[in-house]
Amino acid sequence: MKSSKMLKVVSLVSASILSMGILAGCGSSSKKVSTDAVNNSSEVLTDKGSNQAQSDNVIVMGTNAEFEPFEYRDGLEITGFDVEIAKKIAEKLGKELVIEDMAFDTLIMALNSDKVDFIAAGMTATDERKTQVDFSDSYFKSQQMIIVKADDTTITTADDLAGKKVGVQLGTTGDLFVSTTEEIAEVAQFQAGTQAVMDLKNGKIDAVVIDAEPAKKMTEGQSDLKLLDAPFIEEEYAIAVKKGNDEILAAINETLAAIKADGTYDEIYAKYFDVAQ
Ligand code: GLN
Repeated sequence: MKSSKMLKVVSLVSASILSMGILAGCGSSSKKVSTDAVNNSSEVLTDKGSNQAQSDNVIVMGTNAEFEPFEYRDGLEITGFDVEIAKKIAEKLGKELVIEDMAFDTLIMALNSDKVDFIAAGMTATDERKTQVDFSDSYFKSQQMIIVKADDTTITTADDLAGKKVGVQLGTTGDLFVSTTEEIAEVAQFQAGTQAVMDLKNGKIDAVVIDAEPAKKMTEGQSDLKLLDAPFIEEEYAIAVKKGNDEILAAINETLAAIKADGTYDEIYAKYFDVAQ
């Protein structure tokens, strides 16, 4: 069964992916979910212990530094668009920014157990996550995109993922889409999008579903890969805080408004992206 609904661009601000009803009613899934990739991951997750979020003079950002250009490692340093915005938030609060790098799917847990003060991780503000955390105002618009091998002629839109083996980053909105789309034959979940792309290059999977900007970075200069010009879900990124932490949420929203008003946001934007949005 092919569904034209898959091509529909849906705003996640008003509707969670789960409530989109994509391919709903197709019966129970027989999809194989492969998490081997995750279990065998050789990623080093820097986890500097607890209680940092309690300290008076530091503010702790939780992230997953596998998401260039939003957060990534440049040598020993973690840098990127989100990091620069987080620095402005820390400045506003008069605190030093500390970054905790961890698996994407553990971020909300870390926030809710006070291990981090906020999450800046290219995180989409979905309705589902809104039941677990409070989100700031949106600071970036994104889309889900598809990466395939350059010589692939069978996949040109999201509909064509039917029957295919698709790689995603564990716990992301791309994962949610692929995992809940019955017609996709298999989902391979990885800790990092780059690992999924590696398996695509090696022919172990047929496609990777991931956010637009990291997708552009991962395919840049890669002649054996192709980024499909067929974005299929629109999303908005926001910074997450623990539910009820209104003080920090206000500081974040004020910082976002201030840097948008005084041109700082545009300056940071121009460092990491092609066109101002
Ligand atoms: N925007 C996606 C999500 O929120 C992916 C984020 C990420 O991989 N860092 O799930």
